[in-house]
Amino acid sequence: MENNISLEEQEQPPSTPAARFVTVSNANVAESLIDFADEGESPQGKAFYTPEVKDRQRSSRPAFRRTLLPQSEKIASFRKRFYPDISDGQWTDWRWQLRSRITSLKDLERVLRLSDDERNAVLRHQGPLPVSITPYYAALLDVDDPLQPLRRSVVMSEKEYHISPEESADPLGEEHDSPLPNLVHRYPDRVLFLVTPFCSVYCRYCTRSRMVGRQHERPQTMPALWGAAIHYIESHSEIRDVLLSGGDPLTLSDNRLDRLLQRLRRIPHVEVIRIGSKVPAVLPYRITPSLINVLRRYHPLYMSIHFTHPDELTAETAHACGRLADAGIPLGSQTVLLKGINDDVQIMRRLNQGLMKLRVRPYYLYQCDPVPGTSHFRTSVQKGLEIIAGLRGHTSGYAVPHFVIDAPGGGGKIPLLPDYVIGRDGCDILMRNYEGQVFRYPDTLAANDEEGK
Ligand code: SF4
Repeated sequence: MENNISLEEQEQPPSTPAARFVTVSNANVAESLIDFADEGESPQGKAFYTPEVKDRQRSSRPAFRRTLLPQSEKIASFRKRFYPDISDGQWTDWRWQLRSRITSLKDLERVLRLSDDERNAVLRHQGPLPVSITPYYAALLDVDDPLQPLRRSVVMSEKEYHISPEESADPLGEEHDSPLPNLVHRYPDRVLFLVTPFCSVYCRYCTRSRMVGRQHERPQTMPALWGAAIHYIESHSEIRDVLLSGGDPLTLSDNRLDRLLQRLRRIPHVEVIRIGSKVPAVLPYRITPSLINVLRRYHPLYMSIHFTHPDELTAETAHACGRLADAGIPLGSQTVLLKGINDDVQIMRRLNQGLMKLRVRPYYLYQCDPVPGTSHFRTSVQKGLEIIAGLRGHTSGYAVPHFVIDAPGGGGKIPLLPDYVIGRDGCDILMRNYEGQVFRYPDTLAANDEEGK
């Protein structure tokens, strides 16, 4: 068999044992991949490594790339049980994962034992925010327990049909600040560019549930709407930061993303481009070498990744984040505080400390927005403050996100902190530390500030 793999193409995740390489020819790659899967230990626990098929879209020659991808035990046993005939090449192909999303009651019942509540909710559903779960992410769900945190975040409940008076389809008032349907210009120097209404997995608490996953609106139709938004950004020289979101921008093809990023990079006043995505957590196979080759051309490029729970921190996701970090992309996390899912100090500590190991800096913890049908997900604001108090001082400051409320009506993100300042004593400011002990700081210059007024 011919070995057509160059040294540059042979990529191994760091800190992992050497796995056996396969020598594959183009003709029999799919079969060979299964036969040579190897075993090893990853930083996230036992995992074995599967070769990755090169993204063929960007190459006219039918070459295959051989790389090693980790596969955690949970994923392996799910595959064996529910997708026994699917090859490693198919399973790790992000397009296969997208084509094979679990989107119907029948699909769901094949991989989960649904409760009556879940079944009825799916039967009643109409409109946007349908069920959609990648086979990869379905493997992380508990087959029997409808209350498992990850399962609750992506499988419908009849509670979604309960609308509370304080809820609103557009709680952040984005439409008020939208000069175009796919552009939000709220802050002076930056815009939110909604490049697709499509996500690989739909979160049941999505802030943009009014618009994501609308049936009949295929992601392919969106580039036609990009021109006006790009023209708007070009003609507003105060915009120095563009955040691409949606939907999930990383569900676009490499070519589309490349064209979009190229257009934005040509605008002289756009200094920073950011991408908001949940893909590394729900579809890690999307982070291919060919995607990395696209992204690394458009620095400074930042990425905010939506994580919900430490169960998402698999060997596969670690590998995807490692590729992004190795490409020089600063990674931050965004997490929505969700009742019964992650509203617990220990869970949040595990999540944020785990993210640090993946080189993802915990960035924002959001109070859940009052979107229609999400009252069962919302916690009190006090719960978020308690979690921050339980993190600050108990773990490294890098692992403590900003707790924010995105103010209803368009007020933007407002940070909230537990009360660490407890008063003054003369010139001294009195403060409480993370253990509740009181300390004072001689704030003598405060008087000068007052005099200077
Ligand atoms: S990934 Fe983001 S945009 Fe998509 S459904 Fe989840 S929260 Fe909404």
